[in-house]
Amino acid sequence: MKNKIKILVLSLTVLATMVVTAQEKKQIIKTLIVDGQNNHVQWPKITHLLKEQMEATGLFTVDVARSAYTWQGKEFISEYPIDGLPTTIALEKPKTDQDFNPDFSKYDLVISNFGWNAAPWPEATQKNFEKFIAEGGGLVVFHAADNSFPKWEAYNKMIGLGGWGDRTEKDGPYVYYNDAGELIRDNSPGKGGSHGPELEYQIKIRNTEHPITKGMPEVWMHTKDELYNSLRGPAENMEIIATAYAEPTSRHEPALMVLNYGDGRVFHNIMGHIDYSVACVGFLTSMLRGAEWAATGEVTQAIPDDFPTANKSSSKKF
Ligand SMILES: [Zn+2]
Repeated sequence: MKNKIKILVLSLTVLATMVVTAQEKKQIIKTLIVDGQNNHVQWPKITHLLKEQMEATGLFTVDVARSAYTWQGKEFISEYPIDGLPTTIALEKPKTDQDFNPDFSKYDLVISNFGWNAAPWPEATQKNFEKFIAEGGGLVVFHAADNSFPKWEAYNKMIGLGGWGDRTEKDGPYVYYNDAGELIRDNSPGKGGSHGPELEYQIKIRNTEHPITKGMPEVWMHTKDELYNSLRGPAENMEIIATAYAEPTSRHEPALMVLNYGDGRVFHNIMGHIDYSVACVGFLTSMLRGAEWAATGEVTQAIPDDFPTANKSSSKKF
């Protein structure tokens, strides 16, 4: 009898330990950054910075899956890190990497640092990715990732709005806010995607109760960046949680968006053109909170003390 009780106590202890361990493990968000083909030449540096910033929170572990790319006429296969990797790599002759097939199922979250003119992923990889997101995986896209894959229907549903790549009214409405604060879905003919010269611009929060934006000043100044305008896409199951006023269109363009794709959550951030744009404390905070939200539906990270104000941007020193 005594032995039986001993065994029972022991089993319960083991079980309790397993439960605690499982809970602890659950809190770490397993993240995969995908990159390799981006017209923004600083993509290797930006992947590195994001990985570093995410891991510094203690909330994320970050792996990188890098598609093959051509640099200075030579082909490189997918590898990270690469010794002596330059911080900039120009996009040359992008072509589909048939071996690019990350095991998405090992992760809670994928961040895309692909860009304009990236070659399509192999079809099997596209299908695996669609399944991963539809079954509850998280996705973060920023800046030129919304230029990628204009012909991939599911991807365009995930990101809601995109630009360039011959996107027009055939791909969906141009969505923006007017001066009266009304959300407009404009189906009239027009090109999808444009931007004026780089500048500092104000981000206006449209949903102050969303976990990503809650606690941010209602208006904050972003560091110098491109401000995308006239993005077009299916814009289904999408909420614009922040906008920015663009001079070229005189409209409040979507800046931060949240979407659902099946059971998956997507965070879409139009910012992040170059290193000084990524260094913005507002950009980084949005990305870290957006990543947590996309993976879990909740945000536990606080707004940092050096967050930008309405008229003053704030940069992180790397
Ligand atoms: Zn750009």
